[in-house]
Amino acid sequence: MENKVKKSNNLKYIILYLLILVVIIVAGYFILNSILKEDVTADIENKEIVFNTQTSEDLQLVKAEKFEIPEHISATVPIFMYHFILEDYGDYPDTENFLKPETLEEQLKYISENGYDTIYIDELDDLYKYDKPVALTFDDCFVYFYDNAFPLLKKYNQKATIFIITDYINGENYLTEEQLKEIADSGLVKIESHTKTHDYLDEMNYDEQVEQAVESKERLEAITGQEVTTYCYPSGRYNQTTLDIIKDYYDFGLEMLGGVYDSDVDTNPYQIPRIYANRSMSLSTFASYLEQSRVYY
Ligand SMILES: [Zn+2]
Repeated sequence: MENKVKKSNNLKYIILYLLILVVIIVAGYFILNSILKEDVTADIENKEIVFNTQTSEDLQLVKAEKFEIPEHISATVPIFMYHFILEDYGDYPDTENFLKPETLEEQLKYISENGYDTIYIDELDDLYKYDKPVALTFDDCFVYFYDNAFPLLKKYNQKATIFIITDYINGENYLTEEQLKEIADSGLVKIESHTKTHDYLDEMNYDEQVEQAVESKERLEAITGQEVTTYCYPSGRYNQTTLDIIKDYYDFGLEMLGGVYDSDVDTNPYQIPRIYANRSMSLSTFASYLEQSRVYY
């Protein structure tokens, strides 16, 4: 009899313990669940707050760190070709090659106010870093670049790539070595080769072409201390020999004509097209090219 009572008491305790255990487990589940939910919400809120307080430069960094470099990206990039930035073109016949400084200023202002990213030509390999890339290139340059374009690039903090004819350095109306060094040191301008003499490459033999490509590169690298990676064909003229030679010395070659660069179409890095930014280009035409800037995965 006593044993039976003991047994029934034991059973009661066991059931009670089990009930308590079930209550604890169920309560624990709900408490844990609500904590986890709060954490996720707080996380999202924090991320939004952090995101909103970043500067665009920081965002760029966050973007670069956050994502693996994608294996393939596609991009369309307007690459503008300028020559001389000068109000008065004097007796020079190709008047369209002279852009007024105020026009360049208008364009740079538009670029900076509308969130475009100016890139160097050799950043065409790193487009994943950018959302709205655009490249500004200046051929020949002369001292007008130093006097009229360089101050505007600094004012609007925009990047450009310039193409120098190395036999002209220190010559009349041309850039001096000191000016080139100062320009390169600014961190806003990459100095690249526009050959030694600006003669037609497609009329030269193999050795002459090697000399143009190699000596101009070495001279510029000696002046700036920076690697020269891009070759710009004078008057847009080149042939297969040019392409065979420069692949050993340069990463990119620039044409004079063409539309907006499209990475899926313009797959040869030695035939990069450009848009002629001439004297009579309106701001709305300039803007319509910019609107085609895109990077997508
Ligand atoms: Zn030229």
